[in-house]
Amino acid sequence: MTAPLSFDNRLLRDLPGDPEPANRRRQVRGACWSRVAPTPVADPRLVAFSSEVATDLGLSEATLRSPQWLAALSGNGLVDGMDPWANCYGGHQFGNWAGQLGDGRAISLGEVDGPGGRAELQLKGAGPTPYSRSGDGRAVLRSSLREFLCSEAMFHLGVPTTRALSLVLTGDRVVRDMFYDGNAALEPGAIVCRVAPTFLRFGSFEIHASRRDQEALEALAEHTLSAWFPHLGAPSPDAYLAMLGEVAAATARTIVGWMRVGFVHGVMNTDNMSILGHTIDYGPYGWLDDYDPDWTPNTTDAGGRRYRYGNQPRIGLWNLSRLAEALFPLIGDEGRLKDALHSYSATLEAEQRAMYAAKLGLGAWTTGDEDLLTELLAILRATETDMSIFFRSLDVGTVDALQGAYYDPEDAAAVADRTRAWLGALATRTAHLDPGERRGAMHAANPKYVLRNYLAQLAIDAAEGGDFGPIHELHDVMRRPYDEQPGFEAYARKRPEWARNRPGCSTLSCSS
Ligand code: AMP
Ligand code: MG
Repeated sequence: MTAPLSFDNRLLRDLPGDPEPANRRRQVRGACWSRVAPTPVADPRLVAFSSEVATDLGLSEATLRSPQWLAALSGNGLVDGMDPWANCYGGHQFGNWAGQLGDGRAISLGEVDGPGGRAELQLKGAGPTPYSRSGDGRAVLRSSLREFLCSEAMFHLGVPTTRALSLVLTGDRVVRDMFYDGNAALEPGAIVCRVAPTFLRFGSFEIHASRRDQEALEALAEHTLSAWFPHLGAPSPDAYLAMLGEVAAATARTIVGWMRVGFVHGVMNTDNMSILGHTIDYGPYGWLDDYDPDWTPNTTDAGGRRYRYGNQPRIGLWNLSRLAEALFPLIGDEGRLKDALHSYSATLEAEQRAMYAAKLGLGAWTTGDEDLLTELLAILRATETDMSIFFRSLDVGTVDALQGAYYDPEDAAAVADRTRAWLGALATRTAHLDPGERRGAMHAANPKYVLRNYLAQLAIDAAEGGDFGPIHELHDVMRRPYDEQPGFEAYARKRPEWARNRPGCSTLSCSS
């Protein structure tokens, strides 16, 4: 057994809490959090866990598997030092102010000082809280499995993200109407234990600003600054402006990471934007199979496609502007807030150039490369082309090597000449580079394995039938997304025809 984890729940110490102890749904004012106990479940079973996350926390596998920890990870008990709470936050949903949202089904257990740094442990699906509104506080297996696998896949892809420690089946059933069309059904309930330095969001600030609660806003800003941006010094308008600039730059880097690997978050509401710029809240997300900048997996967003792949960089700035507005009472100078947001566009542009330079194997980006990229993206849009396979095969430099990326051989023929001409231009542009080094750099930017929508769905189908083998195998493959992994090529295959229009593979809703 390892030594017990040392919990230090700094957020509870620093920030005003809800004085009302009752766990009933309501508006919570003047507070950043409410103490709330998880609601026990019938028959918990540990389905999967991340050994790397456990190690970061200082948790041995034996401890994780102990009855006490299984109880804690399923909401049936607490480990010494845990002091569970739900966070109060608001948010702009699909562009509109939605008022108080808060952790309606997430319950934080505590903050740990582990070998991997400070980390907050948070159960998702552990029962109702004062913020649950009309929801039941629970989560189903399919969405929990997607969050577990995707946050781990994202980490191994090198994109900043929350992590997942464990996936537990509760043994209870949960009613869900998957497409909000009157077809409610019972589904297996599950709980993921997510892990992040903090789960504070843009919406955590917005709620207090919207209520003109200067005291809570100041407490939250001071806490955030000293806990997560200590290098920026003591609280002051200058320090908060610098903090906003750093949040903006981190957000830009993460979104460019999504663009690089073909990830569509699906619900970039301001309550789903981490103050550390990490990917957070895996809901109706999806991965591009064919390269289509207008694609969104989220059926709730089908009309406006606000959160489509190609719009994510713009939404990042829109969301940061809402955060800047929320910080206005601490700074009182609109012009300086706008200036602080320039670091978003500056970082975004620089990171995007570096990202495409790496994907195309250009060495460093030069001015003329813009035309090369524009033509490539036009070619990709002209036909149904698998994004991951295309970029992974690009190092060879021939039209033949790209054949596997096309969904229809006739499409491939239609763009062959144009593609050949473009490959010629790329070859000329990169002729001075060492081929071996170039190939290595390209493979490090173009993953072979991503969590394709249909792969996650196959793991869900198996798990709902009681077979957890596919979850473990998929989890394992996603640990090394840039390696060839002989024998596992099936996980790099393009979307099969059956998955083209299947719910869960091409369309998802917020019901989870
Ligand atoms: P999301 O779209 O998942 O980011 O959730 C938006 C808001 O709805 C958050 O405040 C969630 O806590 C809340 N929510 C989502 N599902 C549930 C549920 N089943 N029970 C209670 N609250 C929920
Ligand atoms: Mg959310």
